[in-house]
Amino acid sequence: MKNIVIATGNAGKVKEFKEMFAGLGVSVTSLADHVSPIPDIAETGATFYENAKIKADWVYQYMQQTRGADGGGVWTLADDSGLEVDALGGAPGVLSARYSGEGANSVKNNEKLLNALSDVPDEKRTARFKCVLVLKTGINTYLSAEGVCEGRIINEIIGSNGFGYDPLFVPKGYDRTMAQLTPEEKNCISHRGAALRGLYAVMDDGGTGIVSN
Ligand code: IMP
Repeated sequence: MKNIVIATGNAGKVKEFKEMFAGLGVSVTSLADHVSPIPDIAETGATFYENAKIKADWVYQYMQQTRGADGGGVWTLADDSGLEVDALGGAPGVLSARYSGEGANSVKNNEKLLNALSDVPDEKRTARFKCVLVLKTGINTYLSAEGVCEGRIINEIIGSNGFGYDPLFVPKGYDRTMAQLTPEEKNCISHRGAALRGLYAVMDDGGTGIVSN
């Protein structure tokens, strides 16, 4: 049975990935099942793709060290995501988690974003969440997919669900913030869900034989 090791310690993400691969004859483990404490992998890439690849490579190399040259036949999967705001030239982008600098957290990041957009009129506050997934299937082979959720940034924090920039982000076609949506509603339109569906399609197209429908 193929084993995919997810390059994250985030339990929520592991759950989503496990659900995606359920029934495909693939077993999913997370980095936390193989190494403790989970190392902080430096995300030095300039794009979401580069950062996801850095993480997938890191975990693959770790598996090679512990299980031999082919990593024991495992595949590794990593994601990277963030918010791109048009009026800020695509910022915070890959720096989304660290936008407000040392000691960054969601409250500080949202505050900084509101300040940066204080003079920007409503029609120019367009933005998108992006998620890139990279699945490493061998020493030099990768599959990847990108998911996008378009929307706009409002002028105040509204809603308490979700995380990160959700209370400032109104998805296109909605009049509520992402933080006012139920988890089910968010999953249907989220960048991560779209990337997961995209990866699923690529795996199918790639004739890997894992996707059975
Ligand atoms: P990561 O891919 O988990 O490292 O996410 C990077 C950062 O992007 C997070 O810390 C959040 O600030 C932001 N982000 C990513 N996905 C979401 C989302 O679904 N809602 C709100 N913020 C998000």
